Formats: sequence, C-alpha cells, structure tokens
Amino acid sequence: MAGGVPIYDIGALSVRCNTRIIADSQPEFAVHTFSDLPTPHAVPRSSTFLRLKKKLERSVGEAIADFNMIEDGDTVMVCVSGGKDSFSLLSILLALRERAPVDFRIVAMNLDQKQPGFPDDVLPAHFAALGVEYRIVTEDTYAIVKDKIPAGKTSCSLCSRLRRGIIYRTASEIGATKIALGHHRDDMIETLFLNLFFGGRIKSMPPKLVSDDGQHVVIRPLAYCVEKDLARFARAMAYPIIPCNLCGSQENAQRRQIKHMLNAWADAHPGRIESIFTAMKNVVPSHLLDEKLFDFKKLTKEVAVAEGDVAFDPPDFDDPVGAPQAVISMVRGH
Ligand code: SF4
Repeated sequence: MAGGVPIYDIGALSVRCNTRIIADSQPEFAVHTFSDLPTPHAVPRSSTFLRLKKKLERSVGEAIADFNMIEDGDTVMVCVSGGKDSFSLLSILLALRERAPVDFRIVAMNLDQKQPGFPDDVLPAHFAALGVEYRIVTEDTYAIVKDKIPAGKTSCSLCSRLRRGIIYRTASEIGATKIALGHHRDDMIETLFLNLFFGGRIKSMPPKLVSDDGQHVVIRPLAYCVEKDLARFARAMAYPIIPCNLCGSQENAQRRQIKHMLNAWADAHPGRIESIFTAMKNVVPSHLLDEKLFDFKKLTKEVAVAEGDVAFDPPDFDDPVGAPQAVISMVRGH
C-alpha cells in the first residue's frame, strides 16, 4: 500500500486510460545488426566505444544465461522510460538478438504519464528509426500523483505502483511473455543497502521475478552492468535522454544518501563495490540468523553444514578488497 492505494488496483483510482497504439502490428522486420541499425544517431566506432559495447553485451548475455531470462519464442516487452539505462537496454537486446541461439520478439514500450513538458515525439521517432515494434501508452498518472501526494513529498513510490499496473496490463495486451526493465548492478546494490539500513532486511532487486498475480515474468538483463558504463555508453550513443523529474519530484533522500556512501567507498576503496555484488551471489544461510532459511532447531551432529565450523576463526580474506587497514588488523587479530 502507498498513500492508501493498493498495488495494482489501478481501476479503483479511475486512471484515465487513453491507450494509443502507434505501431503494434508491424510485420516481420528486417534483420538488423548493431552496427547497421538505422539509429537516429551514428553509432560510434572508436575502439574504446567498441570495447565498452562488447563489455556491456557480454554482461547482459551472462545475466540472461545465468538466470534463464529469455527463452525461444519469448516476446520481450522492453520498458523504455527515456533514461540512459532503458535506452541502452533496448540497444543491447536488439544487438544480442541478432546472434542469440534462440528466437525472440522485442517490443519497446513507453508510458507517457502526461508529465508537463514530456516530449511525446522523441521515443516514437527513436523506435521508428530503430525499426523496432513499439507501443506508446498514454495515461495521466501525473494528475493522480499530484492529487494524492501532498506538495513537497516524494511521489516516486505511488508513481511507480501506478506505472507497474499499467505495464502489466500492457504486457498482457501485447502477449509479452517477459517484461524487461533497465535496472542495473548499482540499482541492486543501492536497494540492498536501503533495505539493510532502513528496512531491517537483507534484500535487493531480483534479476528475475514473477508478479504477485503470477501472470508476468519481469527480468533485469542489466543486472551485471555497471551504471558508469551505461552512462558512458548512452553518452556515446547520444540518446535523446528524457529526464525523470519533469514531475518536480526529487529522488528519494535515503537512496541519495546510499548512493553517496557507495560512491565514496568506490573512490576510497577500489574493489569494494565489486565485492559487495559478488557477496550477493554467495549467501550462506547457515551463517546468518534467519530461521526461515536455515533450520537451526533441527541442526544436529548428523547435519552437514556448508563451510562447516569457522565460527571461532577470523575470516580469512586472501585479498580483503577495499578493507581499510584498521578493519584488516581487527579481523586478523593483530
Ligand atoms: S521522478 Fe517523477 S516520474 Fe520519476 S518515478 Fe518519481 S514521481 Fe514518477
């Protein structure tokens, strides 16, 4: 619930619905390669850019494979907000599709929330130039958010919930089997710390999830991509970026705080952020305190436990990534 609004209960809010299908039944489109896509802007060809492109495509390919995100016959609805991450996601997926061992359809989707100043011609022109199927959905969630959230308060929470409901409905309408979002590695790490610091939970953003109603599979193919790389890529591609603060809302203060903390760590202790992300893939439930994940009550001598008994040993880090000297001394006991 947010502001008394149930998640997904869009109907109860009388959202004005004026779905506009710009191009939803485009026949077979031509085979594109990344380099010859008819993008509105010339694709850079410097070796630095090509290395960056390769790195991002490799990261996305790995995430797709690791979490079985896309399968043969899928229709992937790529949500494009007009920000650097979703623009990049669409380009990378289009490139990967050309050499993927599976056949899948991509439909770009944008939700025009009627924010003042939203340039509603930019994304249709971009999608058309790419030659990708797309759908633009126009719904005035801006008016609802303004109505429900007092001035000066952050509206992102309600806005996102409304958006989610519309995205799910649109995915059903176009027969999408996967919904791809542009969240990346750094979004996931920030969310982990937000939950840790403010929510009392060890929880992040999943790379793949099923919606509460069991109807939709959401994927985050940028899960292994670093935000700075995406920003460089987007700059080089000269995407027509549309800011996400046309509504006047400010980024959540707690998220800003976490972002600053992580950036400061990254500057002062190279490798620390990478170590945190690696840790998210290496959870040891028997060495935490969550009885839902590990049945301590039934633990007996006969039960084998991963990593065994190292409770009395100081953690042994070959390379204590980014650990300040005081911490290294402390864990090594000297
Ligand atoms: S910044 Fe504005 S448009 Fe973006 S999520 Fe927040 S309320 Fe919605």
